[in-house]
Amino acid sequence: MTGKDNINWHERAAALAIDGRAFIDGQRVWARAERRFDNHSPIDGRKLGEVARCDGADVDLAVAAARAAFEDGRWSAKAPAQRKRTMIRFADLVQQNGAELALLETLDMGKPIKYSQSVDVNSAANCLRWYGEAIDKIYDEIAPTAANSLALITREPVGVVAAIVPWNYPMIMAAWKIAPALAAGNSVVLKPSEKSPLTALRLAELALEAGIPPGVFSVLPGYGDEAGAALALHMDVDCIGFTGSTRVGKQIMQMAGQSNLKRAWTELGGKSANIVCADCPDLDAAVEAAVGSIYFNQGESCNAPSRLFVEASIKDRFLEKALAMVPSFQPGDPLDEATVMGAIVDNTQLGSVMGYIESGKSEGAKLLAGGNRARGGSGGYYVEPTLFDGVDSGMRIAREEIFGPVLSVLAFTDVADAVRQANATPYGLQAAVWTADMGKAIRTARALRAGTVHVNQYDGDDITVPFGGYKQSGNGRDKSLHAFDKYTELKTTWIQV
Ligand code: NAD
Repeated sequence: MTGKDNINWHERAAALAIDGRAFIDGQRVWARAERRFDNHSPIDGRKLGEVARCDGADVDLAVAAARAAFEDGRWSAKAPAQRKRTMIRFADLVQQNGAELALLETLDMGKPIKYSQSVDVNSAANCLRWYGEAIDKIYDEIAPTAANSLALITREPVGVVAAIVPWNYPMIMAAWKIAPALAAGNSVVLKPSEKSPLTALRLAELALEAGIPPGVFSVLPGYGDEAGAALALHMDVDCIGFTGSTRVGKQIMQMAGQSNLKRAWTELGGKSANIVCADCPDLDAAVEAAVGSIYFNQGESCNAPSRLFVEASIKDRFLEKALAMVPSFQPGDPLDEATVMGAIVDNTQLGSVMGYIESGKSEGAKLLAGGNRARGGSGGYYVEPTLFDGVDSGMRIAREEIFGPVLSVLAFTDVADAVRQANATPYGLQAAVWTADMGKAIRTARALRAGTVHVNQYDGDDITVPFGGYKQSGNGRDKSLHAFDKYTELKTTWIQV
């Protein structure tokens, strides 16, 4: 980060040169087929530039370069302490170029500049540094076998890892994949979302500058059914780390099975339940977390607590406080540092969110706040912070992932029933329970079928803890030391003594 106050982000944005070329084998290049797509900013609809539309031919080049690098050991055979130093340099460069990366992220996907700097840049840098720091502190094992043999259990990099990521936290999602995969010695080919490819491309340049050798880390912008599918189907990709929708996650697993049975790890959608009991120890904190977490990142978060279950006896009081907070999330210009909610990523996503709002109204939910497009005349895609009361578990707004600033409130009288409803979803990413009764909190946390359960908070977030889902929210875990499990193979070596 620059550390300087009062950056004129509009001026910087106007002066910014966008380079949409892919990054393959250490070079910025256009797609082999010379195809490009236009990249527009959701802030005002303005064309930012053109981006390489990579396809199977580019995937072949990047995978071949990744394989060659892996085989000759230019990165994979380096001592962990050497990789550590490079990863830390990479993290430092992300931090030093934080203002530029934050600006690219905001222009590309519409989130407020305030958070691109304080959350996205810092988390991505922290993630790269943490896995770099960790890699030379992990020991292998010796199995307790009989005395006439020695069985070594060692971890080795999987080889060539493909990472496919979504548009909602482009840099952080990329970092969650590339940091453990690179630190462990793999070569990585990253495909960012076609909706937000710019920061990933810049990350690749910074990786090279930090000393990650050419070929070890390539970035291929392009469409899912072209560059993405070519990676998922590639016979020389050993492992795929995917974050995105459950729909595409299923296709990724199929493509892995249909090709070379590459290891396929998926971090998918969510419809997280937030259960507030009448004995909640701090109602103001519960309101702030419920409202703040659903509108953060325009509601475009996989773990957004989009289903709010409130015990009937406190619901009116809860809603009164919540409705008093909602207007503070009115969308503003993402390049204004005071803005806390920005633009929806594109016109398609805007249409989808507005469709859900219409379905809530037509299915009989009570619209208490928002429900409309905002910032008319800006040319961008904005939705008011929206809150529905009187939601029934059968309604689409209670069942499907909206991925927008829409909160559905459901009342309950019996916590066991709230848990049943909370679990009655194909998703299982996150959940929360608010109660002063620790016995009830622990019983509820155990009963909730989710990868993460929060008790009396919703903002627990640290690189040291695993992140991932039960059920159709995916498999495997990002973050923490557990992420190394995805990008390493366990080898047993028997030695006759
Ligand atoms: P998406 O599934 O449409 O796309 C994700 C990525 O997959 C993109 O890069 C896209 O180009 C690519 N893709 C699309 N079709 C493909 C295909 N046929 N083959 C290979 N790749 C393909 O998801 P999105 O709209 O970009 O992101 C939103 C989704 O991501 C939401 O469902 C959200 O919950 C989920 N998400 C999950 C997590 C998590 O950690 N669990 C984190 C962030 C987002």
